[in-house]
Amino acid sequence: MSELSCQEIVELVTDYIEDTMPHEERRRFEHHLSYCPGCVTYVEQIRETIRATGELPREETLSPAMREGLIAQFRLWQRDG
Ligand SMILES: [Zn+2]
Repeated sequence: MSELSCQEIVELVTDYIEDTMPHEERRRFEHHLSYCPGCVTYVEQIRETIRATGELPREETLSPAMREGLIAQFRLWQRDG
């Protein structure tokens, strides 16, 4: 079972929250969350956004700068971990 990267988590988060991903992929996603607090925080932020706006943020609502910021942050977390 190959592990998901943080970048894949960012890309898959809406599928995870919508529960539209295959069972096996969901397990891999949750496995990643079990050891990566950065991604847990990210998923929580997306959930908060959904609660606040009533809808899922789509790919285009994450600006490239925001994505890059998140991915840079994940790298820091990984380096520290
Ligand atoms: Zn991660």
